Amino acid sequence: MSKRLPQHFPVEISVVIPLLNEAESLPELTRWIHRVLAQHGLTYEVILIDDGSTDNSWEVIEELAQADTHLRGIRFNRNYGKSAALNVAFRAAVGRVVCTMDADLQDSPEELPELYRMITEEHYDLVSGWKKKRFDPLSKTIPTKLFNGVTRWISGIKLHDFNCGLKAYDQRVVKGIEVYGEMHRYIPVIAKWNGFARIGEKSVQHQERKYGVTKFGLERFVYGFLDLLSITFVSRFRRRPMHFFGTMGTLSFLLGMIITLWLGGQKVYLALNNLKARDVTAQPLFFLALVAVVVGVQLFLAGFLAEMISLSGARRNDYLVREKLNIK
Ligand code: UDP
Ligand code: MG
Repeated sequence: MSKRLPQHFPVEISVVIPLLNEAESLPELTRWIHRVLAQHGLTYEVILIDDGSTDNSWEVIEELAQADTHLRGIRFNRNYGKSAALNVAFRAAVGRVVCTMDADLQDSPEELPELYRMITEEHYDLVSGWKKKRFDPLSKTIPTKLFNGVTRWISGIKLHDFNCGLKAYDQRVVKGIEVYGEMHRYIPVIAKWNGFARIGEKSVQHQERKYGVTKFGLERFVYGFLDLLSITFVSRFRRRPMHFFGTMGTLSFLLGMIITLWLGGQKVYLALNNLKARDVTAQPLFFLALVAVVVGVQLFLAGFLAEMISLSGARRNDYLVREKLNIK
């Protein structure tokens, strides 16, 4: 084990809560968090991100903050989505451990101390909640099973419940990754691909939604699947797009060339032997060759363009450094 200099954190836990029209839940939720964390003697902050609510969530937050100095708030100008809210809160959080939870009282604050312990004592990078017994309609739980299965298979991370709102992170993780689009469903995947491989799971209590309605419809599964494809692709080839496009392009081009040579050779052979040759354009193979060559060239071009874009990007050389030795 390497010796680490003690790092100073202003608070032990940052509780991050993205919310959209959850005014009714907030007083109860913040009281509950306070009760649990104060009981365990943990120092904490609560960051409430109002993601463009159209009810009076923000007024409620302002009012609550007057009586409770642990509360901090960020209010978006419009609705940007849960990932955006998490991303901004992650930048603002100062705790040693950062926990996220939903605002709707479906997740229980009673889980926070144990999640904190798992990160600080068992040294997990990330611990994800697992709603072993869910209180959601079947129309949601069945597609969710499928979603989790596919994500497990593609990412190789053995979690039961990727999309659980209740999660805890070592601060290094939230400062090191970027959550965007609808990627909140895949934070464990993003973390793993950034080298935070110690990912744990804790089964957590789940309740029925007490107030308000769910903010996500069935489109979540379509978007979720497309997001998984794009983050798989981006994480592998962001820094070397030509390896992907070039390989595919070369294969396609080669296939086209081989077929072309075959057709040409056949034609010459038949002509030399005075046999009757079929028109090249009358053969399906010709069209296959044509398409393969054109697609191959296109892929190559796409690769070049992608390579140039990634060269000019400001982030072409940002790597996550874990530790340094004798280096300022
Ligand atoms: N949420 C948000 N922005 C959005 C949609 C949802 O901040 O655009 C919040 C929402 O207020 C809640 C959490 O994300 O605190 C999870 O949403 P919800 O409970 O509706 O999702 P479900 O439990 O149905 O998966
Ligand atoms: Mg919910």
